[in-house]
Amino acid sequence: MTYTVTLIPGDGIGPDVTTAAVRVLEATGVQFKWDERLAGIPALEAHGELLPQETLDSIRRNKLALKGPLTTPIGTGFRSVNVALRKVLDLYACLRPCKWYPGMRAPYQNVDLVVVRENTEDLYAGIEFEKGAPELRAISDIVERSGQGRIRDDAGLSLKVMSEFGSERIVRFAFDYARENGRRKVTAVCKANIMKFTDGLFYDVARGVAKKYPDIEYEEVLVDAMCMQLVRQPQMYDVLVLPNLYGDILSDLCAGLVGGLGVAPGANIGVDAILCEPIHGSAPRYTGQNKVNPIATMLSGVLLLRYLNEKQAADRLEGAIAAVVAEGKSVTYDMKPHRDDPTAVGTSHVADAVIEKMMVGVG
Ligand code: NAD
Repeated sequence: MTYTVTLIPGDGIGPDVTTAAVRVLEATGVQFKWDERLAGIPALEAHGELLPQETLDSIRRNKLALKGPLTTPIGTGFRSVNVALRKVLDLYACLRPCKWYPGMRAPYQNVDLVVVRENTEDLYAGIEFEKGAPELRAISDIVERSGQGRIRDDAGLSLKVMSEFGSERIVRFAFDYARENGRRKVTAVCKANIMKFTDGLFYDVARGVAKKYPDIEYEEVLVDAMCMQLVRQPQMYDVLVLPNLYGDILSDLCAGLVGGLGVAPGANIGVDAILCEPIHGSAPRYTGQNKVNPIATMLSGVLLLRYLNEKQAADRLEGAIAAVVAEGKSVTYDMKPHRDDPTAVGTSHVADAVIEKMMVGVG
């Protein structure tokens, strides 16, 4: 069987890391047809729009996508195309495994965490009002009438909206993932003691869902305490489920626990579609240098294979990546003891090494 996958190379380091991932995926023997499409700045330059309809149609049709990072200018300019893609396609679950492999330079060994982040709601939904906007004044009046003080005239406003629907499906996703992958515990993380009507709702819903999974342990940890626990005893945790913003921040923290952004994969999953991408960004200063680590994107490819139930291929590819990491020879600068280590290899060389391991049957 041939899988047709929408391929969005992205910008910055995106083309380098996606090329490497495509090569190792093809070397597993699974048949892929790549339907290459543009998004973000390359799409704006070629088609005059950031998220062309043909790119969305391609993902809707193929239901499988592999994507490199896309640049989002900070503060001004356009809203994130990454966020738009997840919202438009309703890819509501963001799966971010953070697993330590022997050889990774990390503060801890044996960390094997999975972050499940809600992808469509919360402060990240992008419902915002600029300072001075007339709507903001109207909202300010409502807030004042409700007895909750007055919003200053020089304030901007971002709305945090969380629903029972959105909370229920992400917590259910976390429990289903735990059950299907032999995990023992789900920890729900938010700040319910302060934001009672959003994070509090999240916990209420999570408790109800947890009752339906008596075989999986359930616990709640507040996000501030969780940050401290994760840097002290990350091995205590298994599957974490979080609203969008906390999930975004904590998944970078967890990536740091296992060796950094260069090795942290991700997948955005909806009812019947998956878009796999590394959690790192486009690192513009390394554009076209064949320098950065492709392992995060390759491991995102492993997530794609597992989603497709191509277990043997997924195990082989993950095993080959682990072997390259353990050997420590054909790895990029970020995996060396010093960033200017002259023995660091380039992005494509890592792909060569992973393919070679698969060919000789390691993994
Ligand atoms: P970044 O992840 O691009 O880079 C931060 C630093 O991390 C880099 O300078 C580099 O030192 C290191 N790094 C990142 N990826 C690496 C890799 N594969 N190998 C080795 N080192 C790596 O974060 P940023 O600089 O904050 O963001 C740059 C742009 O990317 C921004 O426009 C941001 O909005 C965007 N971004 C996109 C996505 C996405 O497409 N999903 C995710 C995050 C950030």
